[in-house]
Amino acid sequence: MSYWQDIGVHRDAMRRLTGGEKQVLKTISLPNRKEKIRILYRRIGPGVFLQLGHSMEPYTRFYQAFKTIFVITMGLLVILSALTGWFMARRALSGVTAVTRTARQIADGALEQRVPVKTAGDEIDQMAVMFNRMLDRIQSLITGIRNMSDNIAHDLRSPITRIRGLAEVTLTTKTGLEGYTQMAASTIEECDGLLDMINSMLLISQSEAGASRLVSVSVNLTRLLADACELFQPAAEDKEVSLNCDLPEETPPLSGDVKLLQRMFANLLDNAIKYTPAGGRAQVTLQTRKQGGIVAVIIRDNGAGISFGDLPHIFNRFYRSDQSRSQTGTGLGLSLARAVARAHGGDIAVQSRLGQGSEFTVSLPVEAYRDLP
Ligand code: ADP
Repeated sequence: MSYWQDIGVHRDAMRRLTGGEKQVLKTISLPNRKEKIRILYRRIGPGVFLQLGHSMEPYTRFYQAFKTIFVITMGLLVILSALTGWFMARRALSGVTAVTRTARQIADGALEQRVPVKTAGDEIDQMAVMFNRMLDRIQSLITGIRNMSDNIAHDLRSPITRIRGLAEVTLTTKTGLEGYTQMAASTIEECDGLLDMINSMLLISQSEAGASRLVSVSVNLTRLLADACELFQPAAEDKEVSLNCDLPEETPPLSGDVKLLQRMFANLLDNAIKYTPAGGRAQVTLQTRKQGGIVAVIIRDNGAGISFGDLPHIFNRFYRSDQSRSQTGTGLGLSLARAVARAHGGDIAVQSRLGQGSEFTVSLPVEAYRDLP
């Protein structure tokens, strides 16, 4: 113990030993020394006490070293994680920044802009892909609306110009009552065409609004098609086209909007007769396809047919192929038919060859077949 000068005797320890305790442990600090000392006081006989000291230098050194290493490591770790976090946040947000930049450019009018997509495949990339897809859809809708308004303007201008021209000629030539009667008849005819076009457009938008806008009732498709065939028989006879309807006795009832369904089949039958020359054939067949859960109405003709180039466009509003321009029509019949089929959960498919005829297949889902395998 002489190694440590001024160590003295711990009063409290002595008091506790004289008070009856067998041994007491104390940890003390010495002036001018960094490490602490652990001292054991023990009573080894009456009035004889043992004082043993043990330097805690190795522990203190270890503790100091540990503290230094811990502080440095933790400091580095905190800095590293802050940097990593910052870097990752920046990387993640760079995608959002790109989307924001593109959205701003689009808001300024550049609708063709798209968000650059990286190949990482992370959530931001998926968002960019979906954002671009949404932009494609919006752009195609806007282009469609633009084309449609161009077409409407064009299709309205011709009959209105004709009506105006006729009225002007009648007025200037002063043709008398007969001239005015003729003008009135032509005006009615032109107005009917215009009304037909406007009604078709209204029906298309009603159908495109989906099932919610349909006035759905239970429809007997066999009866509906038989009525349509009967209605078009005189027109077919006038044109010397044989119209043949092959309908089963019974079909399961279909839930749908009678007026729209009538209009759809009328458009398809009208086309089949209109685009088939005299001596040709048009045929309506109704098939039930339990496996697919549908009924299929096939309207086939051996008339003019549709060229390969026209086929992808015939369902577009106002589209008319060049060779059909000699016929009356607005180019809205097929787009209305398809909108009606889709509003009923079905669709229309077409197969056609120029000069050989066309086959339009309307498929409509049937409630009764829904749960069949
Ligand atoms: P529209 O008959 O008033 O011109 P549609 O929308 O009914 O308009 O048809 C679009 C185009 O599709 C027609 O102009 C015609 O070129 C073509 N088409 C439709 N049905 C037939 C058909 N049965 N045979 C040949 N061409 C057809």
